[in-house]
Amino acid sequence: MLEKSYVLPTYARADISFVSGQNATLTDSEGKEYIDFTSGIGVVSVGHGDNALSQALCEQAKKIIHISNLYQIAPQEEAAKKIVLESGYDMQCFFGNSGAEANEGAIKIARKYGEVDGQPKRYKIITLKHSFHGRTITTVKATGQASMHNYFGPFPDGFVYADDIDQIASLVDDHTVGVMIELIQGEGGVQPIDKEKVQKLAAFLKEKDVLLIVDEVQTGVYRTGEFLASNVYDIEPDIITLAKGLGGGVPIGVVMTGKKDVLGAGDHGSTFGGNYLASTAASTVVDLLSAYKQSGALDEAIIAFAQKLEALQKAHSDIFTEAVGFGLMRGLRVVDADTLAAIITAARTHGVMVLRAGRNTLRFLPPLTITKDEMDEGFARLEKAIGTL
Ligand SMILES: *Cc1c(COP(=O)(O)O)cnc(C)c1O
Repeated sequence: MLEKSYVLPTYARADISFVSGQNATLTDSEGKEYIDFTSGIGVVSVGHGDNALSQALCEQAKKIIHISNLYQIAPQEEAAKKIVLESGYDMQCFFGNSGAEANEGAIKIARKYGEVDGQPKRYKIITLKHSFHGRTITTVKATGQASMHNYFGPFPDGFVYADDIDQIASLVDDHTVGVMIELIQGEGGVQPIDKEKVQKLAAFLKEKDVLLIVDEVQTGVYRTGEFLASNVYDIEPDIITLAKGLGGGVPIGVVMTGKKDVLGAGDHGSTFGGNYLASTAASTVVDLLSAYKQSGALDEAIIAFAQKLEALQKAHSDIFTEAVGFGLMRGLRVVDADTLAAIITAARTHGVMVLRAGRNTLRFLPPLTITKDEMDEGFARLEKAIGTL
């Protein structure tokens, strides 16, 4: 740690600094190696140090990095086309720089959709109590966790929290314009929402002309095994947001919607959004992961990882009460929060990085390209770490 830091203390950081990485293996400044089961919180989807991605970025950077959205940006058009075609939905994209910003865009689209001349304004958006939608003033308010609303007010009005998916329909009123949910709550504790209930809700909202907004910032871009969790759930949302895994580490956020005529010129914007560099990153990542999925290798990695996780859970059922999640978005419920904290620290000492989610979930978000050897090594290290508790 630096003696005097010029960075604000908003994070309780571990005292490690990484200097390089290769796929799911990282090296710190002391030369120690770690197996990365975090991928920078679901961001480094194609692994660290990917050749194709770094080459594409270098080549693009030498030509042009940024010119603003006042001009045509071919790589942005290309990235949007790939994203839309992969999704299977008839939509268009807006590019921002983060998950929170993508959700801000979603909220703006919904709010404008709710303004129709001569009709009462519809502005309310229903979200879930254990959701996570971001850290801006609006998205922190959209986040249903009361603990996140302690300071920073007054907040924008119009967010309504449902205890669970079952309660959402009963909260819809004449002022409701949208419902925003994660299909698998990430930060809230790797909590998949029941597929049939989501499908029923989607049908109900369609009937009421209330927009279904799916926050796929964490679940999107093959994290669940399909391009979108919405594909897994077999629903057709009105608005979808993406960010984390899309740029392979380059900051990017996308809001995509089939409501193509809601926002017009000047209604929304972003200086950086979808610039040459970020769009090239997204295009390359989508190409890489699409080919990886088609080869069958992603499905194999998911099956292998799930088997490892279940074996670990069964071997330590006194500590891990349940294995949850799907795709490469997985968790183990831990008996209590202290044990969870101890596991994360011991794991780090033994050279494997894992995450926390919610109060009692050990979370796994490995690079989607993690190899069988890296999995074996990571789980062996985790096993050793647990042995020291
Ligand atoms: C991480 C996350 C966000 C916020 O993304 P940022 O890029 O940190 O702004 C929003 N929604 C979900 C579901 C997330 O997992």
